[in-house]
Amino acid sequence: MIFDTFAMVDWSGGNDTGPTPRKDAIWACKVANGQTHRPDYLRNRAEAEAWLGDLIAAELAAGRRLCLGFDFPFGYPAGFARALTGADDPLGLWAWFADRVTDGPKANIRFDLAGEINRRVGDGRGPFWFNGLTRDIDGLPKDKAHYANPFPDRRRAEELARGAFTCWQMGGAGAVGGQVMTGLPVLERLRRRFAGQVSVWPFEPLDRPVSFVEIWPSLVDPVVKARTGPGDIRDAVQVQVVAEALSRLSSDALARMLEVAAPEEGWILGLGHESALMAAADPLAPPPLRNDCFALPAGVDWTPVDEALTLLRERLTPMTGAEQVSVGRALGRVLAEPVRAVRANPPLSNTAVDGYGFAGPAPDGPVRLPLVEGRSAAGAPFDGAVPAGQAIRVLTGAALPDGVDTVVLDEDVAVGRGQVAFHGPLKRGANTRKAGEDVDAGDVILDAGRVVTPADLALISAVGLGEVAVRAPLKVGVLSTGDEIVEPGSAAGPGQIFDANRPMLLAMLERFGFAPVDLGRVPDDRAVLRARLDAAAGEVHAVLTSGGASAGDEDHVSALLCESGALRTWRIALKPGRPLALGLWQGMPVFGLPGNPVAAMVCTLIFARPALGALAGRGWETPWAVEVPAAFEKRKKAGRREYLRARLRDGRAEVFKSEGSGRISGLSWAEGLVELEDGARDIRPGDPVRFLPFSAFGL
Ligand code: AMP
Ligand code: MG
Repeated sequence: MIFDTFAMVDWSGGNDTGPTPRKDAIWACKVANGQTHRPDYLRNRAEAEAWLGDLIAAELAAGRRLCLGFDFPFGYPAGFARALTGADDPLGLWAWFADRVTDGPKANIRFDLAGEINRRVGDGRGPFWFNGLTRDIDGLPKDKAHYANPFPDRRRAEELARGAFTCWQMGGAGAVGGQVMTGLPVLERLRRRFAGQVSVWPFEPLDRPVSFVEIWPSLVDPVVKARTGPGDIRDAVQVQVVAEALSRLSSDALARMLEVAAPEEGWILGLGHESALMAAADPLAPPPLRNDCFALPAGVDWTPVDEALTLLRERLTPMTGAEQVSVGRALGRVLAEPVRAVRANPPLSNTAVDGYGFAGPAPDGPVRLPLVEGRSAAGAPFDGAVPAGQAIRVLTGAALPDGVDTVVLDEDVAVGRGQVAFHGPLKRGANTRKAGEDVDAGDVILDAGRVVTPADLALISAVGLGEVAVRAPLKVGVLSTGDEIVEPGSAAGPGQIFDANRPMLLAMLERFGFAPVDLGRVPDDRAVLRARLDAAAGEVHAVLTSGGASAGDEDHVSALLCESGALRTWRIALKPGRPLALGLWQGMPVFGLPGNPVAAMVCTLIFARPALGALAGRGWETPWAVEVPAAFEKRKKAGRREYLRARLRDGRAEVFKSEGSGRISGLSWAEGLVELEDGARDIRPGDPVRFLPFSAFGL
């Protein structure tokens, strides 16, 4: 291994804004021994410098090789170092800045220094530009109107790094000029403090225990995007993804990335090796869905529900990659790998009760054993052996001392004169728990695809794990369509209706455990819908639309998806639910739900929920159901499956008074669905029917 530990830092030239972790601050993440540590929020540069100093000192003390990455350029475009310091050596520039930049949690002199440099090496119109202060600075242009740069605008690396900012821009969104000027002095001070122990890549051979490297998290942006859930801070995710990616590279692959010649300007680690870096960033990166995953069998008119579900089940594969999270953050997440116990539960044989331990079995009849001095308590084991024929005081959870395999309960004994007396018989092992009787070290305790429950957190913790590999949350967009739809709570004209589906669908997704994303509303306009889906394709894994899914003139969801060749309108033999439009938009599954809220909800429960579960890596989930007597009468013809809004009262299933699919009140009235099979039924009160409680769907 070239390095033992990788720590990546997302630098910031901004001011300290307080103790609450936030974006655009300094973030650092360490991976050591393949273990990712939680990213650290470093509220200002002084704190970051202390963190880095402590890390370097600790790694040196432990004899470990450390790769420290920073997301700002280590050098300036060719010619600048010589103009400023008289030599091409970029480390001469580091020293030059370290000697001049004063920096504090709230202010620094970088803009003045940029102006001073412009006056020295340019003609006062460059190379630096942008003034973040309200006062004018002699020699520092505020914008690019009168800008003149005597040096190249970009380094050679930045010609390849599409979207990278130049180091000349001293401020504004995304600018890195301030980061370089505030970052290099910190690195230079660390070099001086740990003299002879630090190499700077690619300027020096990496023959010292600590290496500073330049990184650019945008190289792994798709993985960062996929991993950034709601409430996550992107900068924190970035440093984690880069640290994990570098740590997973083979020594050969890493050596190839390190092999560059850029003695003056420096280089971005991984540039030119993007696919290797991406593969390392997301080793479980799922393959894209097949283009024909929503194709229907030829010649079928109305597809039975079960057949439609089987097709989806066979074709949908996970879309989300994996990440390590601490046990405390694992609730509700989908396990990416089987979880194995690193330690047995219980780890040692112990007593299940308070009592007296001895070597069993005890014979039938009165038993009297001398007590040894001392006791064994949970967390305070007896260290010594108990001789045969003697007993010892033991407390619940205590490890069984050597010589003890059986325990007699407090309630069953008399104690006095250094002896314990009780009545046999007692089997060997009575009142004890054997090491590993619950779980053995190495056992698979939870399977991949499981959604972590509170009980799982206990099990995972008990077997010695602090972290588990989970999949990134599945981001699902919700979009309403229709010219008539207006925002709930706004003023509505006579022909308009309030958007009832969007709040319902967003809430359902939340309850299912996905990450809902509100994509708003679009009118019945193909261009607008197209633009909205294009935008969504980079942001979410899948989309639920409602409305416009049939084949009518205004049914633009189905029309658009059809036109792009990505859609199959599924005519499913289901009530309520008109055709369901299923398609792939730029590789992103789109579930075109019916507009009627009742049908939208039923189709979401029956089709979208298991399909999304498959995309989220959960496997195929079938809700549990109970067979109960009907409290209603109903006659239905063969040909399609029906779902009725229903609830249980006195053990019998009642159904809502109307089957009208516009009756939203029935959805609130109901506590589940009655499922009537595809064939004909003539149901009388008391006949058995299948009831699926909403709770079985996770609602
Ligand atoms: P569509 O599928 O677009 O023909 O819509 C079917 C019915 O559902 C129409 O009466 C629509 O007005 C209604 N509808 C469509 N979208 C929504 C929505 N978001 N909220 C409530 N009703 C809707
Ligand atoms: Mg419509």
